[in-house]
Amino acid sequence: MSDRRVLVNLRGLLTPDPTRTWAVDRIPDAALALEDGRVAWLGRRADLPAAWTDTDRVDGGGAWASPGFVDPHTHLLFAGNRSGEFNRRLQGVSYQDIASEGGGIRETVRATRGATLEELVASGESRLQAFRERGVVHLECKTGYGLELEAESRLTAAYAELKRSGWSLDVTLLPAHDLTPEFGGDAEANAQAVAGAWLPELVRRHPGVARFCDVFVEAGVFNVDQGRRILEAGQRLGLTPRVHADELSWTGGAELAAELGAASADHLMFCSEEGMKAMAAADVTPVLLPGTTLFLGMRDWAPARKLIESGCRVALATDFNPGSCPCLDPLTILRLGCLQLRMTFEEAFTAMTLHAARSLRHGDLGHLHPGARAEVLLWDVEELLELVYWVGEPYRPRFLSA
Ligand SMILES: [Zn+2]
Repeated sequence: MSDRRVLVNLRGLLTPDPTRTWAVDRIPDAALALEDGRVAWLGRRADLPAAWTDTDRVDGGGAWASPGFVDPHTHLLFAGNRSGEFNRRLQGVSYQDIASEGGGIRETVRATRGATLEELVASGESRLQAFRERGVVHLECKTGYGLELEAESRLTAAYAELKRSGWSLDVTLLPAHDLTPEFGGDAEANAQAVAGAWLPELVRRHPGVARFCDVFVEAGVFNVDQGRRILEAGQRLGLTPRVHADELSWTGGAELAAELGAASADHLMFCSEEGMKAMAAADVTPVLLPGTTLFLGMRDWAPARKLIESGCRVALATDFNPGSCPCLDPLTILRLGCLQLRMTFEEAFTAMTLHAARSLRHGDLGHLHPGARAEVLLWDVEELLELVYWVGEPYRPRFLSA
């Protein structure tokens, strides 16, 4: 017996159209037919096909329906937090000074290396629950606070455990998140260890857990050549590249992403016009992270309009992490997309649903057209645009019960 239901009593339904880049369907007085956890039909209730007229109804309570958010860039698992350092930054101490005292990312790496598998899984559970309550139905999650094999392996094992307990997530191996302290700044030897030893061993120990591989290409971390060797090693292991690119300065990270056919290039505050064109031609999704720009108090926002004009399918993400964006709220990112990146509401919404899912190679998430997973959010607002307009309101969606 198939499970067939029709969602009715909706003020409206808003969904990106997966066959077009930036088109959004806005259907008033909508109905949504669902079969076996997938969308089978959407349209106005008055147009519901006869085959669905006797099907069980689900009352939408007069809400707006939308697809769930997809977050394509998070550093979900880490131990400790950096609120002490944050307060020092507010008092004027520079990030570089904090880092040279052994703080910053080094502090998180120390805490994460000292955390047990159980502690990592428990913190992951509570963060995933918080994301879910705010409407995020699928996430990309990176390793990267181990910076050596055993700790990276424990992080990968924790993600495997979270996947086994039913969370919908994609895992990205990021042992090249920063230079490993034990290499004393020798990026070349460090890159060799990541590409030649750690990535193969992580995939051998945890088969089928990770889908992607990532590297931080930045001045003073890994250069483009080292990034290429790490990502090509990942490709040989079946991992699709993603790149932390052009975040603090231009380094050619976007061009590298295009050259390798990466799924995404992320950050891009200092992306070149050539990089934008190359990404559009190679179908690399630029993933913009405006929460990081906000939290670090930087002046330069990512060039969302130029990327869109270049033909890129821009996505937005939280970049949830303890140092530069401790934010697991998709509405904050949606608001920054509109207010700082100058995206329209429909563009920002598409960037956090359809294009976010596409950057993770999921065709059945981020929209509510036939075939999509029935991850439907119900919002009790008169117009969906209000989610952005009432700037500080902590809206929470309702979910369809299983
Ligand atoms: Zn990141």
